[in-house]
Amino acid sequence: MSNYSYSRLSTYNQCPRKHSYMYEEKIYTDGNEYLILGDLFHQCIDRACKGEDLTPVFNDYEAKVMVGQLSTESGLLEEVFKEYLAYYDMSSEEVIESEKRIEEEWEDGDIFSGVVDRLINKDGLIILRDTKTTLKPLKYTPNQVKYNAQLLTYCDMVQTNLHIKVDAYEIDEVRLAKLQPVPLNQNGKPSADKNKLGLVRYEDYYNKLAEMGLDTAPEYQAVLDYLEKRGHPLFKRTQCQLLDSNMLDSNFKDLYDSYKGCKTGNKQRVRGPLCDYCPYTELCNLDFYNPTEEDREIIINKIKKSS
Ligand code: SF4
Repeated sequence: MSNYSYSRLSTYNQCPRKHSYMYEEKIYTDGNEYLILGDLFHQCIDRACKGEDLTPVFNDYEAKVMVGQLSTESGLLEEVFKEYLAYYDMSSEEVIESEKRIEEEWEDGDIFSGVVDRLINKDGLIILRDTKTTLKPLKYTPNQVKYNAQLLTYCDMVQTNLHIKVDAYEIDEVRLAKLQPVPLNQNGKPSADKNKLGLVRYEDYYNKLAEMGLDTAPEYQAVLDYLEKRGHPLFKRTQCQLLDSNMLDSNFKDLYDSYKGCKTGNKQRVRGPLCDYCPYTELCNLDFYNPTEEDREIIINKIKKSS
């Protein structure tokens, strides 16, 4: 009997060898900064949904910054989360489930499980919401959401196990960064350089122009249009309606094929561009030469330490 998840099968699809290091040898590298930040932000939303105090999560974040486990700025989590609450009206939606773990029994007693971030009822529409945090600019396109295998898997699990029909699914992207004030040129006027406006809100830019009597100046209209279309620099929700149940069926078939492959114990290397970002590269290269257990242990400890 084994435990499976979407991430596990996705890792197997990327590279069976990487899957073997991570899930069979259990050489964990998941203490990294991105995962910690994502987990803290998820805790904030979950607590806010339940009306609980957020202070313990903010304190946990500050403690991790203080000991150097996180390299981000002090106060960042609280600032971004407060902006999130101000931007999205949580009172306009009913939370059906938050951080809901769903388990299914597959073959030979194997368990496939997943955690659904949020299941929302908004104006009678049931939406499955997956929150993804990043330190980089927001990136999801409608097609990346529409064909997102993880979201389709969770929609299927909700419908099968909770017996709730999902109408739509969405990625709720959050950029963990501090908003910036409007940058000014040497002449004291707002910069119109889009490269400098990545963390500037439309409202702040417009208000600054209005304050200077420049809000109708022709040279700023294209920038205003750009900022308005771009939306909030830290938040973006991309939603797709779940219209075609065949998509769920074919997604499940792909997932099940990966599961069957995974069960064979295949440990083949898949060399490619992803190797450059793989935390096991050194071990993978070493294993090519049939190393001793002692040599492997040295590299494994190094991997664990660096995470
Ligand atoms: S370095 Fe490349 S081939 Fe080796 S485990 Fe990582 S992804 Fe797979």
